[in-house]
Amino acid sequence: MSITRPRGTNDFLPEQTKKWQAVEALLRNMCREYGYQEIRTPMFEDTDLFARGVGDGTDIVQKEMYTFTDRSGRSLTLRPENTAAVCRAYGENKLYGLAKEVKLYYIGPMFRYERPQAGRFRQFHQFGLEYFGCADPMADGEIITFAWDFYQRLGLKDLKLLINSVGCANCRPAYRRALTEYFQPYLEQLCGTCRERLLRNPLRLLDCKNPACMEICAGAPKITDYLCGDCAEHYRQVKQLLQAVDIPFTEDPGLVRGLDYYTNTAFEIVVDSIGAQSAVCGGGRYDGLMQEINGQSCPAVGFALGMERIFTALAAQNESIEAEQAVDVWVIGAGSRAARDKAFAVTAALRRAGWVCGMDYEDKSMKAHMKAANRSGAPIAVVIGDDEAAAGGVLVKCMEDGSQTFVPEQELPAYLSRK
Ligand code: ATP
Ligand code: MG
Repeated sequence: MSITRPRGTNDFLPEQTKKWQAVEALLRNMCREYGYQEIRTPMFEDTDLFARGVGDGTDIVQKEMYTFTDRSGRSLTLRPENTAAVCRAYGENKLYGLAKEVKLYYIGPMFRYERPQAGRFRQFHQFGLEYFGCADPMADGEIITFAWDFYQRLGLKDLKLLINSVGCANCRPAYRRALTEYFQPYLEQLCGTCRERLLRNPLRLLDCKNPACMEICAGAPKITDYLCGDCAEHYRQVKQLLQAVDIPFTEDPGLVRGLDYYTNTAFEIVVDSIGAQSAVCGGGRYDGLMQEINGQSCPAVGFALGMERIFTALAAQNESIEAEQAVDVWVIGAGSRAARDKAFAVTAALRRAGWVCGMDYEDKSMKAHMKAANRSGAPIAVVIGDDEAAAGGVLVKCMEDGSQTFVPEQELPAYLSRK
């Protein structure tokens, strides 16, 4: 019986990986423009890191983690997301000692035990930014601008930016109480999970996808009516910054992250035309997270985007990413072994000089070689038969008009550069 890939994982074939590389190149280039530097952390971490950093009561920690015990009895978990790990690394490596502000990005696979479906996998990939050390709303503004502009540059349409403020440790308790009071009379109508959430963390109810719960949530008190003066001002400034850079947004008071270390800004970008898995990225401010993970407080804001969903969205909009790697030159060695060996050396020399260069190593007729040259799409063929090899040169053939020029071997790179 043949072995197939695990459920919820993907093989990315060359036709796709070149598109991925094009998207990654755009992201890395934007990071250069914005001043974010790459950090690479382990694929697995101490399980406690996620229990603390993502939150015990979340779906991720309760239902979705790939947790295992290693041979010495440690509990380890394949990373389901990367913010907690980047915070750990930031503290563990004392990056706060380098500069007051540190701006990092990551890209790589994440693992969640979810029900696989379109746009939802068990191994998927995220790109994310983490901006440490800046409490100003401009940091929130920068993160959102990066995310929004990235999708614009990709050419995605129907983007919707949803934003909210989740307040802070000062203003949230009153809101929690208001929510608990509001939901109490509906206890019987809530789903089982929400009944439990009501005891642990009523903010999480607002996230429920159950239709009955959603209907009840529609009438719930809004956090924005409970923000303290500082939080209201922070929120006002973030919105003002978005207006200043022409980014449209929709305020969504139901957009919450239920955990205590999330503060102020929460946002999500959705693409309406891609169906149920419409969230292409999400992020926000988490001024309390570093304290939770490293015991050292530091303001931070960031976001993570799903790489797979980019391609789902582009496909749904009949858009594609241009990622052609064209062949510059096709080398043909036909005739004696000596002529073919010479062609092999010319190919290597052209590649060393930076040309995208192909050659068919098989011993076949000139006609068959010309066919291969045509198929490659290269505008130029370099032909080495016995005559050329004996004369110490090559025939440079223009594939479009068929014209041929004899060029001495040492002059070939310079000649091709002129062409
Ligand atoms: P969702 O509501 O779709 O489950 P989430 O709130 O779990 O998303 P985050 O943890 O904020 O998502 O992750 C950020 C982004 O990563 C999401 O907006 C989405 O684009 C992508 N993502 C999350 N889970 C998956 C998955 N299982 N497969 C593919 N992409 C995912
Ligand atoms: Mg999820």
